[in-house]
Amino acid sequence: VTLPRTELLARVLAALPESRRGDFCIACGAPGVDREEAGGEENFRCRACGVASPRAFHFDGKARHWLEGGELLHESAGAVVRRDGRTLLFLRRRFPLLWTIPAGHVEEGADPEAEMRREVEEETGLVVARARRLFSGERVVLEDPCRRGADWHLWNVYEAEAEGTPRLSDESRVVGWFDGAEVRDLARRGALIRPVAAIFRGMGLVP
Ligand SMILES: [Zn+2]
Ligand SMILES: [Zn+2]
Repeated sequence: VTLPRTELLARVLAALPESRRGDFCIACGAPGVDREEAGGEENFRCRACGVASPRAFHFDGKARHWLEGGELLHESAGAVVRRDGRTLLFLRRRFPLLWTIPAGHVEEGADPEAEMRREVEEETGLVVARARRLFSGERVVLEDPCRRGADWHLWNVYEAEAEGTPRLSDESRVVGWFDGAEVRDLARRGALIRPVAAIFRGMGLVP
């Protein structure tokens, strides 16, 4: 039985304890999933229905989440880090397995710019020297299915300069600087995560 997503979400959020911590199946909404890793791929298997998915509704008690129009929203902060006309990208190790910019979920009460700086350092080893907010004054809600179950994210996006040499993290398989033609090629091949493609279009980096 597949529930309509709004009904599924209402059920999941109603079952969320006061600690706001818990894991629920992305398919049936039942509490309790087991993380499985095989061949470098991560799945969450439901203890109730048995479905294994690279996604689960995961609540850690810290990340901001809310319902809007029946949909679950998370807040993200990320940076388009640029150097000598090139853009920093990495290939994700976990869902979605595509190229992305350093970004992560914003915790309740946290400053998005501080969260962005932390993510850049954690995911690439670079230290942000200068940053300016992109799309200032706009509410940037992008379709962006994440491994923690939300399909939509409110994005805080910065353009940044950062110091250091990019290194791999437990989130990335490959990291590097991409020139304009390489970025356009990744976009054309559908190899960028959806919100990053939208952000790059907004910046005029890709058509
Ligand atoms: Zn299930
Ligand atoms: Zn999310």
